[in-house]
Amino acid sequence: MTERLYASDPSLLEFDAAVVGRREHEGRPAVILDRTAFYAESGGQPWDTGTLGDARVVAVLEDGADVLHVLDRPLAEERVHGVVDAARRRDHVQQHHGQHLLSRAFVETARAETIAFHLGGEVTTIDLDRPVTVDQARAAERRANEIVWEARPVRVSTLSAAEARAQGLRPPEGALADVRIVEAEGFDRQPCGGTHPRTTAEVGVVVVTALERYKVGTRVSFVCGHRALAATARRQEVLDGLVATLSAPLDDLVAAARKAKDDLVEGERKSRALLDRALEGEARRLLDEARGASPAPATGPPAVIVAAYDGWAPNDLRVLATRLVALAPCVALLGSRSDKAHLVFAQSEGLPHDVPALLRAALEPLGGKGGGRGNMAQGGGDRLDRLDEALARSADAVRARA
Ligand SMILES: [Zn+2]
Repeated sequence: MTERLYASDPSLLEFDAAVVGRREHEGRPAVILDRTAFYAESGGQPWDTGTLGDARVVAVLEDGADVLHVLDRPLAEERVHGVVDAARRRDHVQQHHGQHLLSRAFVETARAETIAFHLGGEVTTIDLDRPVTVDQARAAERRANEIVWEARPVRVSTLSAAEARAQGLRPPEGALADVRIVEAEGFDRQPCGGTHPRTTAEVGVVVVTALERYKVGTRVSFVCGHRALAATARRQEVLDGLVATLSAPLDDLVAAARKAKDDLVEGERKSRALLDRALEGEARRLLDEARGASPAPATGPPAVIVAAYDGWAPNDLRVLATRLVALAPCVALLGSRSDKAHLVFAQSEGLPHDVPALLRAALEPLGGKGGGRGNMAQGGGDRLDRLDEALARSADAVRARA
């Protein structure tokens, strides 16, 4: 059984120990020591990292009564010096103890119990058993921080499982042996095997960053200590960028962003209306041009309109084709050179051509595909250089049939 040095002294980060077992874990060497300051992953708190002699400790796992240290290389020594990564440990202590305080604060302010806890690489979450409002979350955050700033002592004690239950604590389901109790003086007492600070002040600050509905309750994301500082710096960077982009002071940022969004919507509406008018004008111009080429438009065959544009979106070609076939009996063969060679073919109601077949034939030399039904078809291919040729051939096919 490995003696867990962190249980009695969570500030101990260096130690000497004897190797009492050697294993392999998922292809990596692993050792069991007679004593360790490395915390093994459990109860939502991730494992410590660090070194044993020359080897890096990449994972630390509970293995029955033992603690398994998974290493990046084999360890030959019988006695080793261990060093726990202090920054990672401090981070875990801040997030984990912050969780104790925030969970208790939610019981006080919203009578919400914590039913799950996850300490992630960036954000830590707790799941509450009922929905909480933003105001309740702010109240809980305030309460947790008051406890942090009062620098209350954090004590560890041991109770039998029966004593713990008798005192209203909830040891793990089916626990028979002694239960380790972590207490933030006068505020919170929890059964917990994790690493904790000497006083609540070490948590630094507790900041709730998000609330979301989760199952029947709320998932609360939060950051503590140095993570809160990093999160603030990140947010400040984003805000500075927005202040510069929108040319508005911080306090006016939301109003400026709303205005920019409204202006954009209005601008898009206006530009769509102008585009529609332009397409209407283009349709009339194309028809006039076609009629000019045909001396007796009233009695001659329907006009065949061929046009190619640079940079037009397929949707604009569609709108133009729809206008054309509605304005006069005609066949519209439209193309655009943009990211691809796009084609839109259409004919007026009552004309005899198989428009989808016409389109498929035109797309073949473009190396493309497309389709359609009835009087409208569209598609595209990569061979921009063959667009004009494809349109001309289609026009010949239509005229031959007429
Ligand atoms: Zn804990």
